Amino acid sequence: MLGPVILAASRSDRMRRLISAAPVTKPVVDRFIPGETVDQVVPIIRDLTGKGLEVTMDVVGEDITTPEQSYAARDAYLELIERMRELDLGTRAEMSVKLSMFGQALEGGHELALANVRPVVEAAAAIGTTVTLDAEDHTTLDSMFAIHEELRKDFPQTGCVIQAYLFRTEADARRLAESGSRVRLVKGAYKEPAEVAYQQKAETDKAYVRILRILMEGEGYPMIGSHDPRLISIAQELARTAGRKLDEYEFQMLYGIRGDEHVRLAAEGHRMRVYTAYGTDWYGYFMRRLAEKPANLLFFARSILTK
Ligand code: FAD
Repeated sequence: MLGPVILAASRSDRMRRLISAAPVTKPVVDRFIPGETVDQVVPIIRDLTGKGLEVTMDVVGEDITTPEQSYAARDAYLELIERMRELDLGTRAEMSVKLSMFGQALEGGHELALANVRPVVEAAAAIGTTVTLDAEDHTTLDSMFAIHEELRKDFPQTGCVIQAYLFRTEADARRLAESGSRVRLVKGAYKEPAEVAYQQKAETDKAYVRILRILMEGEGYPMIGSHDPRLISIAQELARTAGRKLDEYEFQMLYGIRGDEHVRLAAEGHRMRVYTAYGTDWYGYFMRRLAEKPANLLFFARSILTK
């Protein structure tokens, strides 16, 4: 019940100002967003990759309002990639981007987002790695898939995300499950209407399995973005029956969630990539993490009350 309320708050400017300014928020935020600057996050990349994990780095931010902010977002990624060059991790460290942060919702936003993301993808390719386009709310997806297709003409390794809770996603998965594609499947983290998305968790979970089967039986490279233990064992089974080797798919989880599981799966020989977000504009990302698990909200509320 609380999830939709928190997701509605994640789009409220008033709540953004209130929560972002509260000093007690910071320790709770740090669990999910372990730094604000590249300097703070480089040791985290070293630590995770030193444990045999891989990373996908996200500079937090979304729903910007001016083109200048979109250029700043592009530059933040370029700065990150420049630092990654020194780490020389190849595809063990890749990037995840949200096109709304690159200006997608502004006037002429489709072209602006494409113009901003292209140099980031180029810079990533120049250091031997790739970029994955995150999936945001359903109104943004046609534009995201068109940008993905455009980028893949020059950079076929560019990945994208699909969301199991959307009715459209089975068809998207069939289209995307082709040779050379990289597709991350997640349940979906936004508040979506009943016209376009399943509203019950059980329906989303069933759809997740159907879509994962399409990806596993297809020709592309599936990236399983979930912390759900049931789905993780189903994914292992589907990979086995599809005859996939351990390096022909990967698991992905978020920094700060089920960390023991990251290490356990990697120790079993799986590729495990940790989605690691950093930066100052953490509000939307943080609120979605609260909405996914109401216990997080209780922890957050307790930290406020005990101050
Ligand atoms: P759930 O059933 O929600 O969770 C399973 C278990 O995991 C829970 O019981 C709990 O133990 C643990 N858990 C899950 N979430 C939390 C949390 N916040 N705090 C503490 N414990 C938790 N969504 C998008 O819409 N677009 C994207 O581009 C996108 N990218 C993602 C990238 C990665 C690598 C991952 C892992 C998720 C991404 N998501 C994205 C979020 C996703 O849609 C889900 O909201 C999120 O992963 C929770 O779903 P779950 O599959 O983990 O299953």
